[in-house]
Amino acid sequence: MTATSAPAARLRDASVLVVGAGALGCAAANTLAAAGIGHLTLVDHDRVELSNLHRQLLHQEADIGRLKVDSARASLDARHPGVEIRTVAARLTPDNAASLFGTHACVIDATDGLDTKFMLNDEAIRLRRPLIHGGVVRLLGQLMTVLPCESACYRCLFGAPPNAADVPSCQEAGVLGPLAITIGTLQAAEAIRLVTGRGRLLTNRLLTYDALRGRWRAVKLRRNHACGACGSCGASAAALL
Ligand SMILES: [Zn+2]
Repeated sequence: MTATSAPAARLRDASVLVVGAGALGCAAANTLAAAGIGHLTLVDHDRVELSNLHRQLLHQEADIGRLKVDSARASLDARHPGVEIRTVAARLTPDNAASLFGTHACVIDATDGLDTKFMLNDEAIRLRRPLIHGGVVRLLGQLMTVLPCESACYRCLFGAPPNAADVPSCQEAGVLGPLAITIGTLQAAEAIRLVTGRGRLLTNRLLTYDALRGRWRAVKLRRNHACGACGSCGASAAALL
Protein backbone atom coordinates (compact mmCIF):
# COMPACT_ATOMS: atom_id res chain seq x y z
CA MET A 1 0.00 0.00 0.00
CA THR A 2 1.39 3.42 -0.92
CA ALA A 3 1.59 6.29 1.49
CA THR A 4 -1.15 8.18 -0.36
CA SER A 5 -3.58 5.31 0.01
CA ALA A 6 -2.97 4.80 3.73
CA PRO A 7 -6.12 5.19 5.84
CA ALA A 8 -4.94 8.46 7.39
CA ALA A 9 -4.28 9.96 3.97
CA ARG A 10 -7.63 8.79 2.66
CA LEU A 11 -9.34 10.43 5.62
CA ARG A 12 -7.42 13.65 5.14
CA ASP A 13 -8.42 13.80 1.47
CA ALA A 14 -12.05 12.91 2.09
CA SER A 15 -15.11 15.07 2.52
CA VAL A 16 -18.29 14.08 4.35
CA LEU A 17 -21.66 15.82 4.30
CA VAL A 18 -23.44 15.89 7.65
CA VAL A 19 -27.13 16.78 7.35
CA GLY A 20 -28.33 18.00 10.71
CA ALA A 21 -26.26 19.71 13.41
CA GLY A 22 -28.21 18.41 16.39
CA ALA A 23 -27.35 15.48 18.63
CA LEU A 24 -26.41 12.99 15.92
CA GLY A 25 -24.67 15.56 13.74
CA CYS A 26 -22.62 17.06 16.58
CA ALA A 27 -21.38 13.63 17.64
CA ALA A 28 -20.67 12.49 14.09
CA ALA A 29 -18.89 15.69 13.07
CA ASN A 30 -16.81 15.84 16.23
CA THR A 31 -15.74 12.21 15.86
CA LEU A 32 -14.86 12.62 12.19
CA ALA A 33 -12.86 15.77 12.91
CA ALA A 34 -10.99 14.07 15.75
CA ALA A 35 -10.23 11.13 13.47
CA GLY A 36 -8.59 13.44 10.92
CA ILE A 37 -11.21 13.89 8.21
CA GLY A 38 -10.08 16.60 5.80
CA HIS A 39 -13.36 18.28 4.91
CA LEU A 40 -16.77 18.47 6.53
CA THR A 41 -19.92 20.18 5.30
CA LEU A 42 -22.63 20.84 7.87
CA VAL A 43 -26.19 21.55 6.76
CA ASP A 44 -28.90 22.75 9.14
CA HIS A 45 -31.36 25.65 9.08
CA ASP A 46 -32.17 25.46 12.80
CA ARG A 47 -30.99 27.43 15.81
CA VAL A 48 -29.62 26.23 19.15
CA GLU A 49 -32.28 25.75 21.84
CA LEU A 50 -31.93 25.25 25.57
CA SER A 51 -34.13 22.12 25.58
CA ASN A 52 -31.73 19.96 23.59
CA LEU A 53 -28.36 21.26 24.76
CA HIS A 54 -27.85 18.15 26.90
CA ARG A 55 -27.32 15.98 23.85
CA GLN A 56 -25.74 18.41 21.37
CA LEU A 57 -22.14 18.40 22.41
CA LEU A 58 -20.88 21.15 20.07
CA HIS A 59 -23.32 23.77 21.42
CA GLN A 60 -23.26 25.64 24.72
CA GLU A 61 -25.70 27.80 26.63
CA ALA A 62 -24.06 30.93 25.22
CA ASP A 63 -24.98 29.67 21.73
CA ILE A 64 -28.75 29.69 22.33
CA GLY A 65 -30.43 31.44 19.41
CA ARG A 66 -27.38 31.06 17.19
CA LEU A 67 -27.50 29.02 13.97
CA LYS A 68 -26.50 25.47 14.83
CA VAL A 69 -24.07 25.29 11.92
CA ASP A 70 -22.27 28.43 13.15
CA SER A 71 -22.07 27.16 16.70
CA ALA A 72 -20.89 23.72 15.57
CA ARG A 73 -18.23 25.19 13.30
CA ALA A 74 -16.89 27.39 16.09
CA SER A 75 -16.54 24.38 18.40
CA LEU A 76 -14.94 22.25 15.71
CA ASP A 77 -12.54 25.02 14.69
CA ALA A 78 -11.42 25.38 18.29
CA ARG A 79 -10.94 21.65 18.83
CA HIS A 80 -9.75 20.52 15.42
CA PRO A 81 -8.28 23.48 13.52
CA GLY A 82 -6.90 21.30 10.72
CA VAL A 83 -10.32 20.39 9.39
CA GLU A 84 -11.84 22.43 6.57
CA ILE A 85 -15.45 23.09 7.49
CA ARG A 86 -18.16 24.46 5.23
CA THR A 87 -21.55 25.38 6.60
CA VAL A 88 -24.89 25.73 4.87
CA ALA A 89 -27.73 27.32 6.83
CA ALA A 90 -30.57 25.79 4.85
CA ARG A 91 -32.87 22.80 4.66
CA LEU A 92 -31.70 20.07 2.35
CA THR A 93 -34.42 19.58 -0.28
CA PRO A 94 -34.70 17.76 -3.61
CA ASP A 95 -33.98 21.11 -5.26
CA ASN A 96 -30.60 21.67 -3.61
CA ALA A 97 -29.60 18.05 -2.93
CA ALA A 98 -27.45 17.66 -6.02
CA SER A 99 -25.39 20.78 -5.31
CA LEU A 100 -25.07 19.99 -1.59
CA PHE A 101 -24.18 16.34 -2.13
CA GLY A 102 -21.50 17.59 -4.55
CA THR A 103 -18.43 15.42 -4.42
CA HIS A 104 -18.73 14.31 -0.80
CA ALA A 105 -17.73 10.71 -0.24
CA CYS A 106 -20.91 10.04 1.71
CA VAL A 107 -23.87 11.67 3.40
CA ILE A 108 -24.63 11.27 7.09
CA ASP A 109 -28.33 11.46 7.89
CA ALA A 110 -28.32 13.22 11.25
CA THR A 111 -31.82 14.62 10.87
CA ASP A 112 -34.74 13.99 13.21
CA GLY A 113 -37.82 14.03 10.99
CA LEU A 114 -39.14 10.95 9.21
CA ASP A 115 -40.21 12.84 6.08
CA THR A 116 -36.70 14.27 5.82
CA LYS A 117 -35.15 10.83 6.29
CA PHE A 118 -37.20 9.37 3.41
CA MET A 119 -36.34 12.37 1.22
CA LEU A 120 -32.62 12.06 2.01
CA ASN A 121 -32.73 8.35 1.21
CA ASP A 122 -34.46 8.97 -2.10
CA GLU A 123 -31.99 11.70 -3.07
CA ALA A 124 -29.05 9.45 -2.13
CA ILE A 125 -30.43 6.77 -4.44
CA ARG A 126 -31.12 9.28 -7.23
CA LEU A 127 -27.67 10.84 -6.95
CA ARG A 128 -25.93 7.49 -6.27
CA ARG A 129 -24.26 8.69 -3.07
CA PRO A 130 -23.67 6.43 -0.02
CA LEU A 131 -25.94 7.33 2.89
CA ILE A 132 -25.34 6.56 6.54
CA HIS A 133 -28.69 6.61 8.28
CA GLY A 134 -29.06 7.15 12.01
CA GLY A 135 -32.13 7.66 14.14
CA VAL A 136 -33.09 7.86 17.80
CA VAL A 137 -36.45 8.07 19.52
CA ARG A 138 -36.84 7.78 23.25
CA LEU A 139 -34.65 4.82 24.26
CA LEU A 140 -34.25 3.22 20.83
CA GLY A 141 -31.42 3.96 18.42
CA GLN A 142 -30.63 2.57 15.00
CA LEU A 143 -28.26 2.94 12.09
CA MET A 144 -27.56 1.44 8.69
CA THR A 145 -25.57 2.26 5.58
CA VAL A 146 -27.11 2.47 2.13
CA LEU A 147 -24.98 1.88 -0.95
CA PRO A 148 -27.38 3.03 -3.68
CA CYS A 149 -28.55 0.24 -5.96
CA GLU A 150 -26.31 -2.24 -4.15
CA SER A 151 -27.74 -2.65 -0.66
CA ALA A 152 -31.14 -2.28 0.98
CA CYS A 153 -32.21 1.32 1.42
CA TYR A 154 -34.26 3.05 4.11
CA ARG A 155 -37.38 2.86 1.92
CA CYS A 156 -36.82 -0.87 1.24
CA LEU A 157 -37.18 -1.31 4.97
CA PHE A 158 -39.82 1.19 6.00
CA GLY A 159 -41.79 1.76 2.78
CA ALA A 160 -43.25 5.20 3.35
CA PRO A 161 -43.43 7.77 6.11
CA PRO A 162 -46.19 7.11 8.62
CA ASN A 163 -48.95 9.62 9.12
CA ALA A 164 -47.33 12.53 10.96
CA ALA A 165 -50.16 12.52 13.49
CA ASP A 166 -49.30 8.94 14.48
CA VAL A 167 -45.65 9.62 15.25
CA PRO A 168 -44.41 11.84 18.07
CA SER A 169 -41.63 14.27 17.22
CA CYS A 170 -38.31 14.12 19.06
CA GLN A 171 -39.52 17.09 21.10
CA GLU A 172 -42.68 15.23 22.09
CA ALA A 173 -41.16 11.79 22.60
CA GLY A 174 -37.85 12.80 24.09
CA VAL A 175 -34.41 11.44 23.28
CA LEU A 176 -31.90 9.87 25.63
CA GLY A 177 -28.86 12.13 25.22
CA PRO A 178 -26.08 9.54 25.56
CA LEU A 179 -27.90 7.24 23.15
CA ALA A 180 -28.03 9.92 20.45
CA ILE A 181 -24.35 10.67 20.98
CA THR A 182 -23.57 6.95 20.69
CA ILE A 183 -25.49 6.55 17.43
CA GLY A 184 -23.89 9.70 15.95
CA THR A 185 -20.45 8.42 16.92
CA LEU A 186 -21.20 5.08 15.26
CA GLN A 187 -22.31 6.89 12.11
CA ALA A 188 -18.89 8.57 12.05
CA ALA A 189 -17.19 5.20 12.51
CA GLU A 190 -19.19 3.91 9.57
CA ALA A 191 -18.09 6.89 7.44
CA ILE A 192 -14.48 6.20 8.40
CA ARG A 193 -14.84 2.56 7.28
CA LEU A 194 -16.40 3.70 4.04
CA VAL A 195 -13.77 6.35 3.27
CA THR A 196 -10.80 4.16 4.16
CA GLY A 197 -12.19 1.00 2.61
CA ARG A 198 -11.46 -0.88 5.82
CA GLY A 199 -13.78 -3.25 7.65
CA ARG A 200 -17.35 -4.32 6.96
CA LEU A 201 -20.04 -1.73 6.41
CA LEU A 202 -23.50 -1.90 7.94
CA THR A 203 -25.08 -2.67 4.59
CA ASN A 204 -28.08 -5.00 4.45
CA ARG A 205 -28.08 -4.80 8.24
CA LEU A 206 -29.94 -2.50 10.60
CA LEU A 207 -28.08 -2.13 13.89
CA THR A 208 -30.39 -1.26 16.76
CA TYR A 209 -29.80 -0.48 20.40
CA ASP A 210 -32.48 -0.74 23.05
CA ALA A 211 -31.17 1.42 25.87
CA LEU A 212 -33.88 0.21 28.25
CA ARG A 213 -32.86 -3.43 27.99
CA GLY A 214 -29.20 -2.77 27.14
CA ARG A 215 -29.50 -4.88 24.00
CA TRP A 216 -27.86 -4.51 20.58
CA ARG A 217 -29.35 -6.29 17.58
CA ALA A 218 -28.29 -6.52 13.94
CA VAL A 219 -31.34 -7.18 11.76
CA LYS A 220 -30.60 -8.65 8.33
CA LEU A 221 -32.12 -6.78 5.40
CA ARG A 222 -32.60 -7.40 1.70
CA ARG A 223 -33.47 -5.04 -1.09
CA ASN A 224 -37.16 -4.90 -1.93
CA HIS A 225 -37.94 -5.17 -5.65
CA ALA A 226 -41.03 -3.03 -5.07
CA CYS A 227 -39.07 -0.26 -3.32
CA GLY A 228 -40.16 3.13 -4.58
CA ALA A 229 -36.61 4.47 -4.36
CA CYS A 230 -34.25 1.72 -5.50
CA GLY A 231 -36.51 -1.04 -6.82
CA SER A 232 -35.65 -0.47 -10.42
CA CYS A 233 -32.02 0.56 -10.22
CA GLY A 234 -28.71 -1.28 -10.28
CA ALA A 235 -27.32 -4.31 -12.00
CA SER A 236 -28.23 -6.50 -9.06
CA ALA A 237 -31.99 -6.05 -9.60
CA ALA A 238 -32.31 -9.66 -10.71
CA ALA A 239 -31.03 -10.75 -7.33
CA LEU A 240 -33.71 -8.88 -5.42
CA LEU A 241 -36.45 -10.51 -3.41
ZN1 LIG B 1 -34.83 0.59 -1.60
